[in-house]
Amino acid sequence: MNRIDLRGSRRDPRGLLPRAQLDVAQAVEKIRPVVEAVRDHGYAAIREATERFDGVRLERLRVPAEAITAAEKTLDPDVRAALLVAIERARKVHADQRRTDVTTQVVPGGTVTERWVPVSRVGLYVPGGLAALASTVVMNVVPAQEAGVPSLVVASPPQPSNGGLPDPTILGACALLGITEVYGVGGAQAIAMLGYGSRGRDAADTPGDGFEHCAPVDVITGPGNIWVTAAKRLLQGTVGIDAEAGPTEIAILADDSASPVHVAADLISQAEHDPLAASVLVTDSPALADAVDAQLVVQVAATKHESRVRESLAGKQSGIVLVDDLEQGLAVVDDYAAEHLEIQTRGARELAMRVRNAGAIFVGAYSPVSLGDYAAGSNHVLPTAGCARHSSGLSVQSFLRGIHVIEYDEAALRASAPHVVALANAEDLPGHGQAVTARFSGDVS
Ligand code: NAD
Repeated sequence: MNRIDLRGSRRDPRGLLPRAQLDVAQAVEKIRPVVEAVRDHGYAAIREATERFDGVRLERLRVPAEAITAAEKTLDPDVRAALLVAIERARKVHADQRRTDVTTQVVPGGTVTERWVPVSRVGLYVPGGLAALASTVVMNVVPAQEAGVPSLVVASPPQPSNGGLPDPTILGACALLGITEVYGVGGAQAIAMLGYGSRGRDAADTPGDGFEHCAPVDVITGPGNIWVTAAKRLLQGTVGIDAEAGPTEIAILADDSASPVHVAADLISQAEHDPLAASVLVTDSPALADAVDAQLVVQVAATKHESRVRESLAGKQSGIVLVDDLEQGLAVVDDYAAEHLEIQTRGARELAMRVRNAGAIFVGAYSPVSLGDYAAGSNHVLPTAGCARHSSGLSVQSFLRGIHVIEYDEAALRASAPHVVALANAEDLPGHGQAVTARFSGDVS
């Protein structure tokens, strides 16, 4: 792996760790015609894009109910058991994230209540290009269900190997979660379909009676490749979106107490997602760095997706960073704001509590990222590309809106009137003040 040696330098770590060059802005321009075609022509445009990008000729959009039921029946028993454990643990964690309405008594007779209301309909994107991620169904659906969203729809790319339906394990996971509305559409065309619906503005292109169209949603969540990310960016505003979750990243802050075997395995585990995935080790131990490099030689040769892993680990977005001490290491990982941060040091929990920027933090030798990918109970849809500086991973909160409900009685408004009038006049908006004073027959000036 690349080495970046920061020892002896107290340079500001900002931007020292390179990231994969993902030009989302350029991708937005490339997929804009696809998104606009779906907006205008609905199904016809979705069909055309699916044939072009997925090599599948769609006869329908919605996956028939029988196919979802059948997929559950044919789930491998071990996979089924694991999905049920993942669902149960995620439910426990996300149920605890539910918000309760809070009423604040601001003044006698004056209250503000914050009501938490779920959005009405969400579209959950489940990737299915390089790998079909059934676990992502769990990570999207469970928080939306725990938030109380009444209408949930899943979209995932059609697989030529499954007769043009989404991956069977993805369909099986939908069945276990009680999801019945699933569309076999992927990429930018799926995001546009979720955002605008599949009818299109031009009714002439739209199949009529009996065709199961997708109605537009209010919020779209879920990870995806650059085309999915670009389409979400383009649709933002038309719908709400979660944070951009692009190629995956792991950063490991480790000292000489860490096992090079574990560290190498964890770096590989994220590298196998994507040639653009980033695997970064930050350590104050040159001996650990050498031992991890040696381990990678052995473990990469034995891994299934060897070429993808090699490309990711050799990419400029991956590398080993040498620092003087863990304080400098902490500054580096904080600046990097990794999607996944592992801390494999002495006193790992204390260090973890001092981290300010990360999508999720995995503490100690026995909390690897791959546990969190599937079965820790935490969510694996997390902000990448430094977005952890300002955004959180998917949670119940992603599907809720806080609505303020303001209720003042006459006495409380009368007592507040001079303050409203003073600020209204200061902003040269006297009509604002008059809207209050009019209620008191002009007896407040
Ligand atoms: P995907 O479903 O995101 O993309 C596949 C779709 O891309 C296809 O259906 C196709 O329609 C479209 N497409 C392919 N080539 C295209 C082109 N040239 N132009 C326009 N559209 C095209 O699946 P994927 O490719 O496997 O990507 C999944 C990504 O999600 C990976 O980068 C992975 O690391 C990431 N991921 C992130 C998280 C997270 O939480 N950050 C979690 C899981 C996965």
